[in-house]
Amino acid sequence: MSKCTFCGREEDEKTVFVGGYEILESCTDCKEEIEKEDKEMTFLDLLKSNLELDCDLIIGDVDMPASFVWTEEDKITDYGIQKYEEIMKSKYTILSNSNIEIHCENHILGADFCYAAAGYISSTEYEKIFVHD
Ligand SMILES: [Zn+2]
Repeated sequence: MSKCTFCGREEDEKTVFVGGYEILESCTDCKEEIEKEDKEMTFLDLLKSNLELDCDLIIGDVDMPASFVWTEEDKITDYGIQKYEEIMKSKYTILSNSNIEIHCENHILGADFCYAAAGYISSTEYEKIFVHD
């Protein structure tokens, strides 16, 4: 018996690996769903896309304590990406009021990131995380 790790269906058939899941060959809907998810951008992709942002972030259903401002001159360093990896690799939704909801459960790390981005941290640490071109 094989099991689809995406939808949980069990069947006596071969499995294939798609985007980190092992799914049944007959799970064509799961395959589509996983591939669609894979194509969606992460928050890091958004930061790297040179968009100007000035909005509030919602992380783990919590409104973040500082608003988020990002310009095309702003860059996040590899150190910053590693430090906030959970947030960076999360998918996001831009809400109708232009605020951004990041699909990451870790709102504590989220708040930490927002305070850092707003400059409420030591300048030494800030300069390790962000670069302005
Ligand atoms: Zn499935």
